[in-house]
Amino acid sequence: MGKYDTIDRFGIDKMNKEDYQKRQDYVTKKCKCQGCPTYVKGDAPTGYCYPLVGTSKMIQWEKDCICGTCPVYKEYELSHTHYCTRCSQMCQALKTEVAGGQGGSG
Ligand code: SF4
Ligand code: SF4
Repeated sequence: MGKYDTIDRFGIDKMNKEDYQKRQDYVTKKCKCQGCPTYVKGDAPTGYCYPLVGTSKMIQWEKDCICGTCPVYKEYELSHTHYCTRCSQMCQALKTEVAGGQGGSG
């Protein structure tokens, strides 16, 4: 179990569907992506760091990522960036921290 929390920062494993949705709404509401240079206007839903939201269908080019300034980032101690193009916190954590990626693929 030890490793789990570093992967599942949002604690979705312990949630029922309703709580999962509630937390997603909370994340989306606080999300700063719409003010980010990388963001493409009209893309939704944001809150790309949240598990299962998925990457953006519209964003193709990575510019700056302002996730570091987001309250969600601080609250849940997130550790990755560019969730819109690279996949959620959980997904990137699985790739790097569990798959033992050293000097990763990016
Ligand atoms: S950390 Fe980034 S993707 Fe997640 S809610 Fe904040 S701005 Fe949006
Ligand atoms: S995930 Fe990061 S790079 Fe992508 S739109 Fe949000 S703040 Fe910008």
